Amino acid sequence: MTDEREPVADGNLILILGDQLSRNIPSLTDADPSRDILLMAEVMEEASYVRHHKKKIAFVFSAMRHFAQELEAGGWRLRYVRLDDPGNSGSLTGEIDRLRAQHPLTRVVVTEPGEYRLKSALLDWAEQAGAELDLRQDSRFLCSHQRFRRWAEGRKQLRMEYFYRDMRRETGLLMDGGQPEGGKWNFDHENRKPAGGGLFLPRPLQTTPDSITEEVLDLVDARFGGHFGTLRPFWFAVTRDAALEALECFVEEALPDFGDYQDAMLEGERFLYHSVLSQYINAGLLEPLEVCRRVERAYFEGRAPLNAAEGFIRQIIGWREYMRGIYWLNMPGYTDQNFLEAARPLPEFYWTGETGMACLAAAISQTRDDAYAHHIQRLMVTGNFSLLAGVDPFQVHEWYLAVYADAYEWVEAPNVIGMSQFADGGLLGSKPYAASGNYINKMSDHCAGCRYDVKRKTGADACPFNPLYWDFLARNAQKLRENPRLRHVYRTWDRMTAERQNEYLDTARKVLARHFGE
Ligand SMILES: Cc1cc2nc3c(=O)[nH]c(=O)nc-3n(C[C@H](O)[C@H](O)[C@H](O)COP(=O)(O)OP(=O)(O)OC[C@H]3O[C@@H](n4cnc5c(N)ncnc54)[C@H](O)[C@@H]3O)c2cc1C
Ligand code: SF4
Repeated sequence: MTDEREPVADGNLILILGDQLSRNIPSLTDADPSRDILLMAEVMEEASYVRHHKKKIAFVFSAMRHFAQELEAGGWRLRYVRLDDPGNSGSLTGEIDRLRAQHPLTRVVVTEPGEYRLKSALLDWAEQAGAELDLRQDSRFLCSHQRFRRWAEGRKQLRMEYFYRDMRRETGLLMDGGQPEGGKWNFDHENRKPAGGGLFLPRPLQTTPDSITEEVLDLVDARFGGHFGTLRPFWFAVTRDAALEALECFVEEALPDFGDYQDAMLEGERFLYHSVLSQYINAGLLEPLEVCRRVERAYFEGRAPLNAAEGFIRQIIGWREYMRGIYWLNMPGYTDQNFLEAARPLPEFYWTGETGMACLAAAISQTRDDAYAHHIQRLMVTGNFSLLAGVDPFQVHEWYLAVYADAYEWVEAPNVIGMSQFADGGLLGSKPYAASGNYINKMSDHCAGCRYDVKRKTGADACPFNPLYWDFLARNAQKLRENPRLRHVYRTWDRMTAERQNEYLDTARKVLARHFGE
């Protein structure tokens, strides 16, 4: 796929990154097919800065190759560098240098990378090379960095709910004149039903790999065999058309129940009513606004209730945009925060799924198989355990960045460092998402098949989340006691007898000794 035609002078080199697979990206809108050369490159540096899940690497490389094919068919002059191409320098800046050595191109044009790391590398390269770099704001997001900064300025607390309302007003999504459709901004209190047996459970669209994907799967097998995760069967969509089909499948089959069962978990059911669209949106195959408009239309056509449509749209124009805003407002340095001074290493079972805790085993084994877990599994199972156990948040961050097909630092880090591990001290969330086994039991059926007893609070058979919950609160009392949303919990702790408190702490010590060899 390399283009070795006559050298081009005076055109632009347009670098298209692996998560910018859209014809609408700003670096392409004013490009000139007769003078500009597009560059796409599979490089080791990007594929291995954490040990990404094999399915994630295969998804990105295959989607890149399919997008490159579309661009070439559209008449673009494209240099596509495969991972195994002779001479592949291993880095994006190395590939820019190689192309510039052959063609005296004037400027390098790139839509701003999502990750701080890559943006810095490009800026450093341009300075050293004395090259003109045209970094363009990524128009796929609804809220620019400047807009978010303005919103955040002067606010004591940055709360997603108020940001979300502004985004609703700006986009007009689910608005009735100046008022929210249905008279309320948020229908979350209707969205906490546990899932029981007997429900119809849809499946996300699963595609069959074509020859391009098969070739990528062989490559990933050969070059990334030691990375986490199961490679086959591989079922992700890798083209925009197939991602649009996956969107339709979600809207038709799962959206109506998305709201009601958003927080539920069921043994053996990996997706429930979730969309499984984040990897497509984050890579550019789907646009966030088009996805929201499609869901809004389903509501207005009477095909989905308001609590489902509002809940879904809030995740995208609310949480997704807000997370990106928080990331760029606080980088560099956001990922190094450790407000609770948690220092334990990530337990080995996060890589193997080998644990007697049924909820964790389920979340981790599906992560290994599908590079996917839904929000409540990420937050209230794997995230909750590492928070309660006091695992170093940077190690937790690196795990999440590696294991999910949708993981890019701009969205993963605020979710992990901020929302899940409270390592930013409450910048993002008003209290830590810490919960005992009771929450997991209420929202799932995992406990019925677990070797631990969720009703037991202390002793060898007690659900480990129970003693760890109190140990977490006791350990961090100095930092959390005054949090208004935790005062009642500390009152409960204070009312316990010293003997009861010691039973909790003693069981927690044994749980920690078991998992961390202390
Ligand atoms: C600890 C932790 C780590 C996470 N890491 C990532 C990550 O690396 N990449 C990622 O895209 N999301 C991440 N999330 C957010 C969320 O869990 C995923 O977006 C979601 O599970 C993707 O599955 P889905 O497409 O089926 O989502 P659905 O439940 O169907 O939600 C619809 C869409 O809303 C968006 N969304 C929902 N929640 C969030 C959120 N909290 N932040 C940003 N977007 C959201 C996604 O685009 C998603 O596709 C993380 C959440 C937690 C708690
Ligand atoms: S008993 Fe505890 S560890 Fe077991 S599944 Fe329930 S919450 Fe998870």
